[in-house]
Amino acid sequence: MGTIQATKKLKKILHDYFWEFFPQDGGPKPKVAWCTSVGPAELLIAMGFKVYYPENHGALLGATRESGKYIPVANAAGYSPEICSYLTSDVGAYKKGETPLTQAYGIPHVPHPDVLVYNTNQCREVQDWFSYYAREFKVPALGIFSPWKVGEVTSAEVRSVEEQFRNMIPQLESISKCSFDLDRLKEVVGLSKEMSDLWWAFLQKARHRPSPITFFDGCIQMAPAVVLRGTPVAVDYYKELNLEIDRHIAEKSWAIPKESYRLYWEGMPIWGRLRFFSDLLTRHNTVAVASTYCDSWIFESFERERPFESMALAYTEIFINRSEDAKEKILEKMMREYSVDGIIYHDSRTCPYNSNSRFGMPQRLTEKTQIPNLVIDGDLSDLRCFSDEQTHTAVEAFIEQLQDHKRRRPA
Ligand code: SF4
Repeated sequence: MGTIQATKKLKKILHDYFWEFFPQDGGPKPKVAWCTSVGPAELLIAMGFKVYYPENHGALLGATRESGKYIPVANAAGYSPEICSYLTSDVGAYKKGETPLTQAYGIPHVPHPDVLVYNTNQCREVQDWFSYYAREFKVPALGIFSPWKVGEVTSAEVRSVEEQFRNMIPQLESISKCSFDLDRLKEVVGLSKEMSDLWWAFLQKARHRPSPITFFDGCIQMAPAVVLRGTPVAVDYYKELNLEIDRHIAEKSWAIPKESYRLYWEGMPIWGRLRFFSDLLTRHNTVAVASTYCDSWIFESFERERPFESMALAYTEIFINRSEDAKEKILEKMMREYSVDGIIYHDSRTCPYNSNSRFGMPQRLTEKTQIPNLVIDGDLSDLRCFSDEQTHTAVEAFIEQLQDHKRRRPA
């Protein structure tokens, strides 16, 4: 993982974000909405809620390698080891009354919700995850039920999601005690769009050969895109970050000094092993330049002047919610745009929704593009599903294969 100076500011931004849930100046406690990572955050912000994202907490539990302590606690309460390990580690930590946010930012506990809002565009798990907390905190869980696995998104599908967003408003108004204001929603959607364009610009800097950034940098830098979209803080942060990366390009300061191979990372990060992969690839002059995961927070379709419709489209057309054919086309395009030599598919044990190696995709894409692939077994958070030794051997063998492949390829 490269040295990006803006990361120091990122820590401060996240510190401030978490402390805003616990005002210290005697001001009123904000109304808190929990939201799924690709849920209608803009609507919640516009309606006066401070928004908290349990998936971000799940990722933090994974990255700090604390999930292993908590997953068995949720398993014992009847939540299977086969379901999302963000869910099980988050529920386990809640049951034990612990959070890594205390160590990281000093906050006493995760912010308690006044309402929970999920969108099934990503998976079914979020409904059960949020329903658990609705029972615990005795607050409503409101769901958006999105059409699933869409090919081309139709206007009827967009209308159905849009209508669900609109139907939520009276309930949200009665919880937040804040009246809906269309101009405020436009402003928030406009900020999300600006943030999204800047985030996209950052990720696209990896098209440069050699690349100034890696997928692992993206995993760290994506936090504001998830938890602070719809706010000027995220916009300002990504402006500064992009200026810094442009300086790195001007100074020829690359993520890996002697870049030889470029990879695409398909699927979830293995949060507890980011450093393992970053070091392993660096030793072999290999850089993971792009991923569908980091791209998940690019919302190209947001339009300030059509907030409901554009939000409905943007949140329905996300990669995870697309048909196998649509995903295949997107991946093929990405692999070409980022000039990759190989693709690693992470088959994440507890997230079948973000594992795209189970229905012949690697074989079909390699046949079409001649770009070699490697499928590795692992998990986003549950490290019991991951073997350091086996993965190390498999990745090294894959890089040798890339070497051979490059040698044999006509210039
Ligand atoms: S998409 Fe996967 S990782 Fe995200 S909440 Fe759903 S099951 Fe968990």
